[in-house]
Amino acid sequence: MQIPYKLNVLARMYDLYDDFSAPLDFVCVRGCTACCTQNVTITSLEGYRIVQHIVSTKQLDLFRRLQPTTAQERFRPAVTTNQIAALCLQRQDPPEESIEWPEVPCPFLSNNECLIYPERPFGCRCFFSTKKCNSTAHAEVDPLLLTVNMLFMQFIEDIDQDGLFGNMTDVLLCLKSEVHRKQYEIHPNLNRSPGLCVNRRIPGLLVPPEHHAKIQPLLDQIKKITGL
Ligand code: SF4
Ligand code: SF4
Repeated sequence: MQIPYKLNVLARMYDLYDDFSAPLDFVCVRGCTACCTQNVTITSLEGYRIVQHIVSTKQLDLFRRLQPTTAQERFRPAVTTNQIAALCLQRQDPPEESIEWPEVPCPFLSNNECLIYPERPFGCRCFFSTKKCNSTAHAEVDPLLLTVNMLFMQFIEDIDQDGLFGNMTDVLLCLKSEVHRKQYEIHPNLNRSPGLCVNRRIPGLLVPPEHHAKIQPLLDQIKKITGL
């Protein structure tokens, strides 16, 4: 798949999710930003979309915001979503990863506003809570929504197969170079820097039996969009 095609599929996936989530009952409001931390993870295709936006709107100073994050401890996943799915389907435990990371604000958060809001990655779009989070951003999420989020993450990884997955700062620092972006267009994981994992195909969907019927209409639309 060529990059423009993949970007179009990604945008349609975001639109589908935004339409799905709009009527949900949650307490999240604009300006509530405890969940906006430097621990967000993204795929390289999502990073490419963000970088393309930053470059095309000549907001290159946004890249400077990433630099301080590199000196801080942040969540760097050891495996991708589809690797976790593969392990679960083989009844194996995924590697243990700490869930306690410093809740340092996201580099794109300014005056409680997201500076890249229309381009924000799926990890931000799907973060909802039915109860106001405390300062540690521990959200309360309906189990069906967790299943739907997992479903979208598995497909978003698959459309960027052989690309990379990791902390948003690491992915963006990798792709902010024009040379690296050109390389990514041909060899998606050529510039794999430390802390980044290689995306995988979907090994099977992690949908519990009680959610099969409920997610089927959404799954049909996702399959239509992705062609997978
Ligand atoms: S997930 Fe929590 S911190 Fe984030 S917007 Fe919702 S209530 Fe606020
Ligand atoms: S990218 Fe935007 S929405 Fe996502 S964590 Fe950062 S400030 Fe929040």
